[in-house]
Amino acid sequence: MEVKRKKVHIVQLPQKVLREKSKDVPWPLIQEDIELAEQMIDHIDYSQEENQTMYRPGVGVAAVQYGILKNMFYVNVNEGKDKIIFRDVIINPKVIAFSEEKLALHHGEGCLSVKESWPNQEGFVKRRKTIKVEGYSYFEKKKKIWTVSGYVAIVFQHELDHLQGKLFIDHIDNKKPWFKEKNLITI
Ligand SMILES: [Zn+2]
Repeated sequence: MEVKRKKVHIVQLPQKVLREKSKDVPWPLIQEDIELAEQMIDHIDYSQEENQTMYRPGVGVAAVQYGILKNMFYVNVNEGKDKIIFRDVIINPKVIAFSEEKLALHHGEGCLSVKESWPNQEGFVKRRKTIKVEGYSYFEKKKKIWTVSGYVAIVFQHELDHLQGKLFIDHIDNKKPWFKEKNLITI
């Protein structure tokens, strides 16, 4: 069966909405926010399909990347369809604790809202190694606390930044983009 898919529009720099702060949404979710969550899930899950050419592959998206200033993001980190590491839409997240230890992806980060041609996007993006986040789970339909570490923690912090109007490029030291402090863990 052919699935008719409506392509979502992804806001990219230099659009200023990416620099605005998002707001909490009512819980339980109202219909339009349920539809937004479903759109994020469909978009990111489909972007990970082999051979699709509609989207740049992604592991997460925040509502602001559709131009909607709501505190919602979706993360799907997996090692294949049968090995899900983290998959949920997080609603109204708050960081309640974080580790002192920092880490960064050894090849840097990327973002669906930052075109590959955008300057100065290469370099270490230092993140907390572990964070504790409180929010509502779309799949479990309840308030939860997640403790995430490593790669999933990086993705969470990237998406949490979006809700504050921040982007990964803000964290890069443009003078010394690949300078590795001795306490920085790279993965
Ligand atoms: Zn992003």
